[in-house]
Amino acid sequence: QLPLIGLTGGIGSGKTTVSTLLSQLGAGIVDTDLIAHQITAPHGKAIALIKKEFGPHFIDPNGALDRAKMRALVFEDPHSREILERITHPLIREETISQAWNLAKDGCAYIVFVVPLLIESKAWLELIDHLVVVDCPEEIQISRVMQRSNLTRPEVVRILNAQVSREERLSHADTILQNNGNFEELSNQVHLFHQKILDSAKGLPTSS
Ligand code: ATP
Repeated sequence: QLPLIGLTGGIGSGKTTVSTLLSQLGAGIVDTDLIAHQITAPHGKAIALIKKEFGPHFIDPNGALDRAKMRALVFEDPHSREILERITHPLIREETISQAWNLAKDGCAYIVFVVPLLIESKAWLELIDHLVVVDCPEEIQISRVMQRSNLTRPEVVRILNAQVSREERLSHADTILQNNGNFEELSNQVHLFHQKILDSAKGLPTSS
């Protein structure tokens, strides 16, 4: 059976960087963040339902979800978050499974599900065979996110604090990729991980 790998990490930890490297090595990547964006883009599968539940003012003139408005609402109101997730989660899951099937048919060596909030979801933890956590000190996360986006420091800290703690995330990890150095150091770890998964899929002993 094709190994199913979960890849997670806090905001700005390096998930996308790692998944791009793994994809270059031949892994099949399912990016759930991308799927979440697609279903809430203009004409996305979640738009009509969101409009019905939350009202037309949550949809922008292009027909996409007004992300800033929705983010503000669900940050303040857990019930609204639940309603939004009840709409989006089944659609994300359906698309995730469909993409995984297609990747398997195309003959990839293993599948990597990139899930920012994987630890928060029991269903994800049960589905995967192996969990990879990309980790770096919170200070580095904050400065990388601030460099990449126009978010302020308090905004990044707020998102970080709303996520599961670094310790909790690490406690679930089968493999930890330390992303506190340069790209090359990260890439070396990714190559080792890739080889380890290929070996274990072939039934070969692995070094760790
Ligand atoms: P998000 O949770 O916001 O989606 P992410 O976990 O996918 O983020 P990336 O997008 O891979 O993280 O990385 C965040 C930013 O930090 C990017 O701009 C990326 O280029 C940069 N970055 C990642 N790893 C390193 C590194 N080792 N050295 C320098 N910059 C890095």
